[in-house]
Amino acid sequence: MIDNCIFCKIINKTIPSVTIYEDDLFIAILDKFPTAKYHILVIPKNHEENIFTASCDTKNNILEVVSKICKALQKLGINDINILQNNGENAGQTVNHFHIHIIPRFTGDKEIINFYSKEEDDVILLKYRDDINRFL
Ligand code: 5GP
Ligand code: ZN
Repeated sequence: MIDNCIFCKIINKTIPSVTIYEDDLFIAILDKFPTAKYHILVIPKNHEENIFTASCDTKNNILEVVSKICKALQKLGINDINILQNNGENAGQTVNHFHIHIIPRFTGDKEIINFYSKEEDDVILLKYRDDINRFL
């Protein structure tokens, strides 16, 4: 529990949220500023900041919860979903408590998440591979 963390406060029920799922390790809530209908956040109860510092147990187990919720959304007729997880300011992380977004997608809503992309030269891709492989 971190004093100034909004998600820790939600987990401890010191501030309200609409909770859709909870177990010993995780809570899933509806996003208060949703990007889409049924936009959900899955949050570990333990305060862990990001992909770099969260435990392997958290990272392994959280996908089970995400998957369970996606299957519930599928029963509501939602078959198109983005799973998003932001780390750091430039990546759009605004709450420094590790979490995964479940964002249902609907026909014609491309402006919600629209990655800019262009084809890259293979020489550059091989260089990127070598950069990363030095540390794997
Ligand atoms: P991030 O930008 O860190 O990946 O995601 C944080 C998310 O938390 C945002 O989508 C934001 O709308 C949501 N959020 C921020 N404050 C609250 C709150 O008080 N309650 C709920 N339910 N969601 C919040
Ligand atoms: Zn926290």
